[in-house]
This record gives sequence, C-alpha cells and structure tokens, in this order.
Amino acid sequence: MAASQSPVLILLGPPGAGKGTQARILEEDFGLIQLSTGDLLRAAVASGSEAGRRAKSVMDAGGLVSDEIVLAILRDRMAAPDVARGIILDGFPRTDGQASALDVLLAETGQRVTAAISLEVDDEAMVGRVAGRSTCATCGEGYHDEFKRPAVAGTCDKCGGTAFKRRADDTAETVRERLKAYHAQTAPLIAYYDGKGVLERIDAMGTIAAIRAALGAIVGRVAA
Ligand SMILES: [Zn+2]
Repeated sequence: MAASQSPVLILLGPPGAGKGTQARILEEDFGLIQLSTGDLLRAAVASGSEAGRRAKSVMDAGGLVSDEIVLAILRDRMAAPDVARGIILDGFPRTDGQASALDVLLAETGQRVTAAISLEVDDEAMVGRVAGRSTCATCGEGYHDEFKRPAVAGTCDKCGGTAFKRRADDTAETVRERLKAYHAQTAPLIAYYDGKGVLERIDAMGTIAAIRAALGAIVGRVAA
C-alpha cells in the first residue's frame, strides 16, 4: 500500500437515511470530493473523453453503460488533482462484482477502499418517519402525524391553511418496499466489505450532529 493513500470511502444507505446530507458534510469537514455515478457520466459525456464518447453512444442507443466504461470514467476522474484529499463514492459499486473491479482499479495506483460506511436504519422507524409526512397545500410547511402536528388540528401554524398534501409514494407500503429492495441489493456488498475488514456501521437514526461525529471519527482514523 502506498504511503500516500487518501481516503476512498463508499457510503451505503437506504433512501431517507441522510446519505446526501452526510456526504456534503464530509466534503466540508475533510475536503473530500463526492463522486456520484450520474454526475461522473454526465461530466465525461460533456468532456468528450474517449470513455465519455463510448458512454454517450451506449446511452443514445438506450442501453445501460457497462461497468467497464464506468470504471474507465472513474479512472480518468481520479487522475484529476482535486480528488487528492480523498473521495466518497456514491452509487458505485452496487454489486460485489463491481466492488471487486473497483479494487483492481484502485490497486493500479496503490490505493484501496479505506472504509465502506453503512448508514444503518431501523426499518419500522423509517416507515413511521416517512409515512407520516404531510405538507401544507398553501405554504408548503412540513408536518408529521406523530412528530410535528399543527398546534390546532387541521390548521397550518404558519398560514392558517386547512388543506394538506401527502406524496403518493410516501405510504408505509412503498417505504417498506424501497427498504426491502435496498437490503436485498446491498447485502452482498456489505458482506464483501465486511470480508475485507473495511466495513463500518453507523447508526443513522440519530441526529445529524451525532451521525456527523461518528463519520468524522471513522474518517479521522482511516485517513491517519
Ligand atoms: Zn401553510
């Protein structure tokens, strides 16, 4: 392993676990750069690089960009100087096969995944958080059946409006389905990184500040 290893983090977490918020905090606190697959693809296509042109022709034909092209784009991106302090990968790898290919790529430059951080949630508590949400149809103020009810039932605290909206996909059933799909997809990846000894689990049900502190402790340790 090269002495110059900077953190290469994989952030794993289901929708609603606060992954985006925590990635932004890691960027601020440690100067890391978040690389999401979607952004990488768009930038590569816009740049007209060889890998970007290959990705474009696949996407124009309605196909799925192969792992090999994504890895080529990632290789190009990681050669840029702004990622020298470390990266957070978001959306890749998604499978243990991709994780293994990523290890091969990182090894080319003497690097490795320093930590795969799993934001762990309590599924039923997540269902309760998301499923109880509503917003005022007039001013957009957010409410929750359990955690944030208007002072006067049925009347918005802010504007006095009496109509409330709920997102159709925020039902208990759809949240449970999303979590089930996440666990099924992520289990092999968690097992892969656990086997490599780099898996870190964080309780993502705490406050943003508590999660920030737990993440900071991990990054401080692996970056040392
Ligand atoms: Zn209102």
